[in-house]
Amino acid sequence: MFWRRTVPKFIDAFLDAFSKRLCYGCSKKYTEGYYCDFCLEGLKFTWTKEGMSRKYLDFDYIELAQILELDLPLYPKIFSTTKYNDMTKALIRDFKYRKPHLAEFWAKWLYDYWTKHADWILSELKWEQLDKSQHQVVGKVDIYISPVPMHAKKEARREYNQAKLLAEDFANCFEASQHYLMQTKHGLQLLELNSVSLMPAMFERVKETPSLFNKSKFERLEILDGAFALKHDLNLNPENQAVVLLLDDISTTGATFLELFKLMNLDAEIVFLSLCS
Ligand SMILES: [Zn+2]
Repeated sequence: MFWRRTVPKFIDAFLDAFSKRLCYGCSKKYTEGYYCDFCLEGLKFTWTKEGMSRKYLDFDYIELAQILELDLPLYPKIFSTTKYNDMTKALIRDFKYRKPHLAEFWAKWLYDYWTKHADWILSELKWEQLDKSQHQVVGKVDIYISPVPMHAKKEARREYNQAKLLAEDFANCFEASQHYLMQTKHGLQLLELNSVSLMPAMFERVKETPSLFNKSKFERLEILDGAFALKHDLNLNPENQAVVLLLDDISTTGATFLELFKLMNLDAEIVFLSLCS
């Protein structure tokens, strides 16, 4: 694994020296990063106010909760950085199956998305209402980062779990000076980031399941039933607000996230972040 993450970086540095590095996305254009501006623009179109449509950023959790017969006191917040299409599918498959060193790029990508939209995600406010200058810092937030787990046998075969690499690199991106305007039980409050904890083994995938590709929402829920176990529950500081960020590369129906949500401590704010949906 070490070599699979480091050798490509040496090769890229070598190609850079001769200005020969080609975009990982379209293989056509010369680029200094992993992807050319054209490919990045295609990915980023959902990041604007106009492009942000809750239609595909959020899942129909009410419908899913009814199917699962869950009486949810809260509902999972599920957000994605970009839309699932032929291009994003190809880029993410490249990372998922062949190029673990791209975790660095996707983690930074996800972190940029998070810092840009965290207030909105955490409080579900309208964009216009986000004015932090009108609020004083009144408390602290502890963030816990967990990947969606892969079954141990599958991880051994594949050599890596892309969600785990993503979570590791994403946790490393955090800087201390973040503030979030959050909806808390005391109303809207501006909170300061207190700690970031990486929880790589919070869950275990205890059931090896067949591929969910081309399966309907109902089939997925049936297949995933009992597939996960909570291994390390959160040790929450009651003085602070807690936010759990659960990461995956692709989410389609939200069935995996809902299955994990059923196992979680609901004293924390739970947010599911995927690269693509
Ligand atoms: Zn390109």
